Amino acid sequence: MKHDMPYKLILTENELATQWYNVRADMSKKPAPLLNPATRKPVTLDELSKVFCTELAKQELDDTTAYIDIPGEIIDFYRMYRPSPLVRAYFLEKALDTPAHIYYKFEGNNTSGSHKLNSAIAQAYYAKKQGLQGVTTETGAGQWGTALSMACSYFHLACDVFMVKCSYEQKPFRREVMRTFGASVTPSPSDTTNAGRDILKRFPGTSGSLGCAISEAVESAVTRPGYRYVLGSVLSQVLLHQSIIGIETQLALQKYGVKADIIIGCAGGGSNLGGLISPFIGEQLRGEANYRFIAVEPASCPSLTRGTYAYDFCDTGRVCPLSKMYTLGCGFIPSANHAGGLRYHGMSSTVSELYDQGLIEARSVEQSEVFKAARDFARVEGTLPAPESSHAIKVAIDEAIKCKESGEAKNIVFGLTGTGYFDMMAYQRFNDGTMSDYIPTDAEIAKSLADLPR
Ligand SMILES: *Cc1c(COP(=O)(O)O)cnc(C)c1O
Repeated sequence: MKHDMPYKLILTENELATQWYNVRADMSKKPAPLLNPATRKPVTLDELSKVFCTELAKQELDDTTAYIDIPGEIIDFYRMYRPSPLVRAYFLEKALDTPAHIYYKFEGNNTSGSHKLNSAIAQAYYAKKQGLQGVTTETGAGQWGTALSMACSYFHLACDVFMVKCSYEQKPFRREVMRTFGASVTPSPSDTTNAGRDILKRFPGTSGSLGCAISEAVESAVTRPGYRYVLGSVLSQVLLHQSIIGIETQLALQKYGVKADIIIGCAGGGSNLGGLISPFIGEQLRGEANYRFIAVEPASCPSLTRGTYAYDFCDTGRVCPLSKMYTLGCGFIPSANHAGGLRYHGMSSTVSELYDQGLIEARSVEQSEVFKAARDFARVEGTLPAPESSHAIKVAIDEAIKCKESGEAKNIVFGLTGTGYFDMMAYQRFNDGTMSDYIPTDAEIAKSLADLPR
């Protein structure tokens, strides 16, 4: 095979970013502010600091500082697994017989197996620096809890994870990784919080929900001195930390003289997509370059393609601030999809605003075609992708096939957010041919949207 470019567009450790990029600074129309659900006024730093670490609350509210220094201790941690590789998918291009050049930024090269570690380490650092004893959080499928437990163990912080009970029982492997890193993992609902006890009384034997786990995690943080609550996606601070993905991608492409045409990411709460595209969106907002950006979401949870742009609760438990976002309604319960990390009713306010301004396109894809793309990718590229990441693979393949039809040699870049090692039950369903797709009806979406806060 003729290689006009190395298989990996390598950056050296010396080229590690020293600043995160805050895309909100370059947006002339900013994302709408978070609102306090009680007063319906923009949340203040004081209010946010009761739930989140103060420095993180500041980052959340800062929509004017473009570059924020990454503290040295976080850079030291990043050195263990970053810069992450930007890989040229030669074998996939060959299999597709496409003139397109395909590149993927692989974030699965760490024990937690996904990009979530990029923000977990930042959040744990600021909690430690504030002198806190620990942090609490919820986890559904377990990727976020795993990343956070690694970050907390590094900074000697307590880490209390409320894990949705059905995942706790059905996905013991991630639970055990968390415990190995020293986290305490509690199946939710539990009898350790008022929220949990209340749910247990009302629904004895329930297998839990993410909304309930969030309520428990928030209560457990705000009722104990020395604790704060942390969240792995959706928030602007998380997009800020994840901008490391885009900064490295931009630098590697520059270093090798490649101009991206299309940039693709999967979208759950929007943090990996937002992080990947941020520096490129910045170039576009400043009039320096033009790109096509595509957000890919599951057809079973289509917040951008079928949701409404409105203020809604970030959580099913209705305890977190109101955020203006593309949402399916915080009461929307997506069908059991194997891409657990994409089962979220809303979308980051920044990604939502960029989408509303027409800067990002969105596409929804069905689960079985996503797994076909995952299998085809794994067989030629040798990496077993996470089901979430495979949404981006599916659309990258679609775009590469369009290039074959039109004869255009476009440069397609996509985010490969994680590995699929802990998703083998999903692959088993796919291999057995028993995977099904559930797409919500318009009536179901309208029903949950009718409950939006006024
Ligand atoms: C959590 C997760 C996602 C989705 O989260 P975003 O905030 O939308 O990035 C995607 N891929 C993997 C592997 C994940 O763990």
